[in-house]
Formats: sequence, structure tokens, C-alpha cells
Amino acid sequence: MPELPEVETVRRGLEPVMAGARIARLEQRRADLRFPLPERFAARLEGRRIERLTRRAKYILAEIDSGEILTIHLGMTGRFTIKPAPNAASRQLGEFEHDAGGDPAHDHVVFHLAGGAVVTYNDARRFGYMTLIPAAEIDTHPHFKDLGIEPLGNRLDATYLAAMATGRRTDLKAFLMDQRIIAGLGNIYVCEALFRSGLDPQRISSSLAKRGLKPTDRAERLVPAIRTVLEEAIRAGGSTLRDYRKADGALGYFQHTFAVYGRERESCIRPGCNGTIRRIVQAGRSTFYCPACQR
Ligand SMILES: [Zn+2]
Repeated sequence: MPELPEVETVRRGLEPVMAGARIARLEQRRADLRFPLPERFAARLEGRRIERLTRRAKYILAEIDSGEILTIHLGMTGRFTIKPAPNAASRQLGEFEHDAGGDPAHDHVVFHLAGGAVVTYNDARRFGYMTLIPAAEIDTHPHFKDLGIEPLGNRLDATYLAAMATGRRTDLKAFLMDQRIIAGLGNIYVCEALFRSGLDPQRISSSLAKRGLKPTDRAERLVPAIRTVLEEAIRAGGSTLRDYRKADGALGYFQHTFAVYGRERESCIRPGCNGTIRRIVQAGRSTFYCPACQR
């Protein structure tokens, strides 16, 4: 399942081709993905310009000049491939196009852009979905209305964490996984952020706050840890869990290495720690942590 860094990597791959481009033709090859595609999908997009390509949590948002926003969720196996315009000068996206998309039987939506670039959405398992939402309604739409703040945005700070954690009896793992508090932070990066900040995933989340909603030094450590693990993963081009591929179709782009995730029974990598990584299950999901240095 792509996590936030993978989605952001895809967005950054699509942006130079799609942002500012006009959709000349939309080829819809089936009526549904995980959910039905929008009514009159092609008619609502053809001839329209994509003004900006942004991201909210794990959604890619294409802001259309009609006033609607095309929201795209990649599900488990959704991915894009780009066939650049014949005269595209800047980037060599084309070199990967031949084996980029997987089985063409799973090419479900094809954006033919004015100028000749072709952007294809391929999704073998079809857990992804696309919707068209009026821009004015995006914040109240069911996909978005309960989402918390962006982990890479300005609003994430120790004070926010302390305010949200005060009185909360859930453990830190559940607290950080709660999409109403921080949006788009998934299992892998929660484990990594807790390791980096030296916090036990089973610790009670109210320990992020002192009296009067003041953050503890645990909350102060957690904020840069969250940002750093996400930024490093984005820089590394996202992880290559499953057969996930970059938007330009580059195969097997370098594996992102995790400090604890997936490393059960291996030695802790923190200098001076001789602990062994343990896997436990919290709320049905695997948690990896070092019992020696995460307290
Ligand atoms: Zn350790």
C-alpha cells in the first residue's frame, strides 16, 4: 500500500507533465475502479486545463479550470506511467515507458494531453479510485472532512501534539495512526518516527503533554522525527514495497531502507544500543520497535 511518501513521489513525477496542461481526450476503459468513476467523466474533463497538482493526505488533487477537483487515490496497486510529448525537451521520461505500466489490460484511465503527452493510470487490483468534487466542497467532502493536519505542513508542532494528546488513553502508535489527528501517516512511518524519537509505541499518548496542554520533550522530539522520516523517504523516491513504481515508470527505483520496519530479530542500528528489534501487533497491524532504546 503506497504511503504518503510514495504518493508525494508520484505527484512530483506527474506535476511537470500535468500541471498547466489541457486534457485533449480522456479514455475511460471501464465504468469503475474501486468505486464507479464519475458520471460523464470524460465530458467533464475534456478540453479542460489542469491548473495545479497538489496532495492532501494520500490523495493526489488535480485542480481543473472548471472549478472541480479530480481526486485520485492509488489504493494498493494504482500507478501512473507517462509517455512524454514527442517534442518534450526537458526530462527523459520516455526511456522507461516500455515496461513501466505492467499489464496493459490494467490500463483503466488514459489522459491524452494537448501537445501529445499521454498519462496512463494502471491498477491491477483496482483498489484505487477517482472522483470529481467541486473545489468549494472539498473540505466538507466525506473523503476529507475528518482529516487531521498534514505531517509536513506548518501546523504540526509539539504544541499541537500536546493539545491532541491531553487526556488521551490510547498508545502512541494508535495516536499517530489516527487520521483525524495527523493525515496520511501510515504504519511504516509511524514505526520509523517512534524509533527515531526513542519512544515506545505502547507508551500512553497523554505522556506527550504536561499540565496546561504544554508539550513534553517527548512531543518535542516526535515532531522533527515525523518530518525527517517522511522527507528522507520522499527524497529516496518512496519505498519499493510490493511492485510500486515511480510516476515516470522507472523500475525498481532504489529501495528505501528502514531503521526498524520489517527488521524483526535484527540488531538495533542506534549507536551504542545492543537491543534487538521486536515485532508486536497493535490494532491488528505490525509494530516494529527496539525495546532497549524506545522508552
Ligand atoms: Zn535500540
